[in-house]
Amino acid sequence: MHIFKTIEELQTYLKPYRAEKTIGFVPTMGALHEGHLSLIHTSRQENYMTVCSIYVNPTQFDNKNDFDKYPRIVDEDIELLRSVGCDVLFAPSDAEMYPQLVESRISFGKLENVLEGRFRQSHFNGVGIVVSKLFHIIKPDKAYFGQKDLQQCLIVERLVRDFSFDVKIIRSATVREEDGLAMSSRNRRLSAIERQFAPKIYEALLLAKDMLLNHKATVLEAQEAGIFYLNSFGVFKIDYFEVVDTINLEPFENLTQQKEIAICVAVFLGNVRLIDNLLIELSA
Ligand code: AMP
Repeated sequence: MHIFKTIEELQTYLKPYRAEKTIGFVPTMGALHEGHLSLIHTSRQENYMTVCSIYVNPTQFDNKNDFDKYPRIVDEDIELLRSVGCDVLFAPSDAEMYPQLVESRISFGKLENVLEGRFRQSHFNGVGIVVSKLFHIIKPDKAYFGQKDLQQCLIVERLVRDFSFDVKIIRSATVREEDGLAMSSRNRRLSAIERQFAPKIYEALLLAKDMLLNHKATVLEAQEAGIFYLNSFGVFKIDYFEVVDTINLEPFENLTQQKEIAICVAVFLGNVRLIDNLLIELSA
């Protein structure tokens, strides 16, 4: 695997391949797990070459503590990437990515104000900026994003559409631990006790899904059941537990429509903020 820290070196390496070979790109913030590796696997199947980036992007964090505590274990990451046959790692410094303060802003309209946007100030502006920069630097044919960050998928798809990026966005299913917990780099920060409670997040999603599909519950009842379940453990602080339309992530109520909806959740478990979601296909 080739490892590059500067844009110039990376671009010099990629240039000869661009005309004739396809490049798949997997952007990450590192502390890699099977969820990230599933994106690499898919990219490897679909492209001649796979580039992974590891960059903990400061502009998408509104919480300094979350940024400072974000796990950084690049040496372990490199071993994992090698083991799955990733071709190129781009691991730039802050100075390389942001030689000047970026004062431009990217607004995503209503989409940036729902769910995560309500709780993480300017988060999607930061995501939009870093993803734009990485797309321009790498110029991939396809880029791979995890369904676990559903809102991020929609934001990136909108970015590509609105600014005519020449890249195809591919969504990948959420990879979970055996007990159902969605894999996340932040899981490493959970204490042993917190880790025991963490699968309850997925259980709450399953409970709400079951109520919607099998018990004719209303959206409100299903949301309340999920929230009640999580609160019963006395360890979660819930930011949101919401049933939404997967097109715009607006609250969804009319269960008689044939539609894809998502149940989305964000909680604090101790100091660690975790998100997850479940997609549901409604049939009329
Ligand atoms: P991150 O390093 O958290 O920024 O994630 C990098 C990419 O991996 C994003 O597209 C995430 O959605 C994706 N990802 C993170 N966790 C998972 C997971 N458990 N399953 C599938 N994809 C994931």
